[in-house]
Amino acid sequence: MNKKEAKTLWFLTGSQHLYGDDTLKKVDTNSREIAAALGNGIGQLTPGGMQPLARVLPKPVLTTSEDILAACREANSDPGCIGVICWMHTFSPAQMWIGGLRELKKPVLHLHTQHNRDIPWKTIDMDFMNLNQSAHGDREFGFICSRMRIDRHVVTGHWQDPEVIDDIGQWTRAALGRDESLSLRIARFGDNMRDVAVTEGDKVEARMRMGWSTRGYGVGELAATAGAVSDGDLKALVAEYKETYSLSGKITNDQSAVRRLEEAARIELGLQRFLEDGGFGAFTTTFEDLHGLSQLPGLAVQRLMEKGYGFGAEGDWKTAALVRCMKVMSRGMEGGTSFMEDYTYHLDPSGMKVLGAHMLEVCPSIASAKPSLELHPLSIGGKDDPPRLVFPVTTGKALNATVLDMGDRFRMVLNTVTSVESPDLPELPVARALWVPDPDLRVAATAWILAGGAHHTGFSLALRPAHMEHFASMCGIEYLLIDAKTSIRELKNELRWNELYYKMK
Ligand code: MN
Repeated sequence: MNKKEAKTLWFLTGSQHLYGDDTLKKVDTNSREIAAALGNGIGQLTPGGMQPLARVLPKPVLTTSEDILAACREANSDPGCIGVICWMHTFSPAQMWIGGLRELKKPVLHLHTQHNRDIPWKTIDMDFMNLNQSAHGDREFGFICSRMRIDRHVVTGHWQDPEVIDDIGQWTRAALGRDESLSLRIARFGDNMRDVAVTEGDKVEARMRMGWSTRGYGVGELAATAGAVSDGDLKALVAEYKETYSLSGKITNDQSAVRRLEEAARIELGLQRFLEDGGFGAFTTTFEDLHGLSQLPGLAVQRLMEKGYGFGAEGDWKTAALVRCMKVMSRGMEGGTSFMEDYTYHLDPSGMKVLGAHMLEVCPSIASAKPSLELHPLSIGGKDDPPRLVFPVTTGKALNATVLDMGDRFRMVLNTVTSVESPDLPELPVARALWVPDPDLRVAATAWILAGGAHHTGFSLALRPAHMEHFASMCGIEYLLIDAKTSIRELKNELRWNELYYKMK
């Protein structure tokens, strides 16, 4: 599921010929040094640090409008390039950048830094001043970006400052998500849960904005793929289940339960094969359309999410795609990411909380304990009892994000939350998270509802709002944050102003 090829960020340094060759050589040397340091500093894709987040490629110093245009065109046409970092070491008259910026399609980070961290008070002369003049060189570049209404991320500070490197790393993760998003294919088995509004949307606009390509399939096609799974593969997977999870007594002893477990394994193998053959990164199911399947896919969905697939229940292709992008953005970070639903509330004024879960489909990447494999009836859908993994969720800072179609635009709504310890829930047959939303449940839920936020979300213990804000910005969609600082009055104004902004845009 995880793509292996290293992605690149292009490091574009602007200057001009006015300063002479010696200065330009220094600019080139310094820009290579900074690019190498950023490449080493911005994080790792794998927990062991085996693969860097992205390679930072320094390009030859840009001094003419022709060079700038050529560099931007090359960046556009390089499928490995996920974004460009621009820095004006010296002054670079920004009219030279118009042609290139007009065509540049990759996300832009403007790094406002300086090679020398400190002013050398005793020795500073005009040569030093002419070399280290990003203080005004970057302002000139900033003007042309603003004048051309180019959405970009500006990072200010010394390139060795850990905060600067962290900031660039967050943006890089968003750029990786954007890169994934642009070629993301979603398999939709069955349609939308009938009459549900928020899970629907304009798939053409979603493909134009986010790149998401959603393909519908009759669930019978999945059933056929599952039916073709060999007995050997089936038995091997059931053995893996028994090795990986704590099994409830009923599954180990009861013959009909074993058959249901084998059926779940058959669905998992069929589903995975279907997704691999079609190059899909995300999928949806719906309990209303299970023709040819004896049970709602539960265990299969959970395990495939853990392998990195995005998922949305009840035909929710937007959340499926979002979860996949979030998984790509958070690769190698501590904490998992899952499909989630705000299920039920604890409204005790002394500590209001949300219990999040779904009928079956919560990703084990957020589990705080070894999942237990259990078999219980499903109270809706009228099919066989589906096996599912039951577990509590890791505690700590987390977020819920959702994407809605507002008719004239897509809107991302995000709420920061704290995942907290849950009391024992012996009768609850599903994985569950318990969280306290920021600033509190009363304000958070009011704000979420005013914003039209869905009941389905991508829930992440790894990502922070900055990752999601950059991602929304790269997709050109609205972003509404509900956090510790949110007040309802200000949120209502933001909604009104955004309405006006997107009407005029
Ligand atoms: Mn649901």
